[in-house]
Amino acid sequence: MTPVDLHCHSSVSDGLLPPREVVRKAFERGCQLFALTDHDDVRGLPDAADEAAKLGMLFISGVEISVSWGKHTLHIVGLGFDPSHPSIVEGLATVRSGRAERGERMAASLAAVGIEGVLEGARKYADNPEMISRTHFARYLVEAGKAKDTKSVFKKFLVRGKPGYVEHEWARLHEAIGWIREAGGVAVLAHPGRYELGNETLRVLLTEYRRLGGEAIEVVSGSHGAADVGRFSRLAQEFGFLASCGTDYHATGEGAREPGLNADLPVGCEPVWTRWWSPAPAANLP
Ligand code: AMP
Ligand code: MN
Ligand code: MN
Ligand code: MN
Repeated sequence: MTPVDLHCHSSVSDGLLPPREVVRKAFERGCQLFALTDHDDVRGLPDAADEAAKLGMLFISGVEISVSWGKHTLHIVGLGFDPSHPSIVEGLATVRSGRAERGERMAASLAAVGIEGVLEGARKYADNPEMISRTHFARYLVEAGKAKDTKSVFKKFLVRGKPGYVEHEWARLHEAIGWIREAGGVAVLAHPGRYELGNETLRVLLTEYRRLGGEAIEVVSGSHGAADVGRFSRLAQEFGFLASCGTDYHATGEGAREPGLNADLPVGCEPVWTRWWSPAPAANLP
């Protein structure tokens, strides 16, 4: 295992734990380099950085930006940027600003199939009112008895073609990469195995992403099975991308991974984290 986790959520977006608690949980599991990557918001970073400093764990800034690429929604993780840089601060504010109105459309769409009061219900689960997300809707719909767990709620209600899904325009790919780079950070394409892109479309995406300044992709991810890890390891090497790893932790009991540790990258991958951290050299044997 690698004691690095560069993709995790707190209650600033759709995670359940406050930033300090996510950091502590990762540290207790043996993490040595950690990034908090809340959706479209960096306001958890000061607390997370402070907690990591107290524990003596290396911490870098992070964010996961929602992007519309044609009809696809992509997630771009930014790492190691200046979170007070106006490009990122203002860019993220525009991405968040559409979420409240989208939440109203989601609720109206569910009301049309007889499920009322969902926006009020979802709001109870969102600590950050600007960051209302499908996850908060899912948690409320479980509470309301509409499905047994959040995974089933997504399948039944919250993915394209289902009653609670509405189209939405997020940031453009070049904007998200631009904000991260202007603030001095590295862009990482999050969980590429989740987008269900055919091989040809995936190659178009990777080519455009690289041309726009994308430098890294997640190879090891909480959303990737063994086949995804192999596939994206080969693609990272072919396209010359650095490789990242992250659990994408949101809450214990939702999803398989706890925060803090990830499987080792396949041999041949160049880790994105070498600019911030390198493993201690093996002890010299006499
Ligand atoms: P949003 O940005 O509001 O569209 O919400 C996206 C979030 O929903 C993701 O970051 C995941 O946390 C969660 N999510 C998306 N798809 C699923 C799924 N199939 N099962 C469980 N959670 C999901
Ligand atoms: Mn999420
Ligand atoms: Mn994501
Ligand atoms: Mn995530």
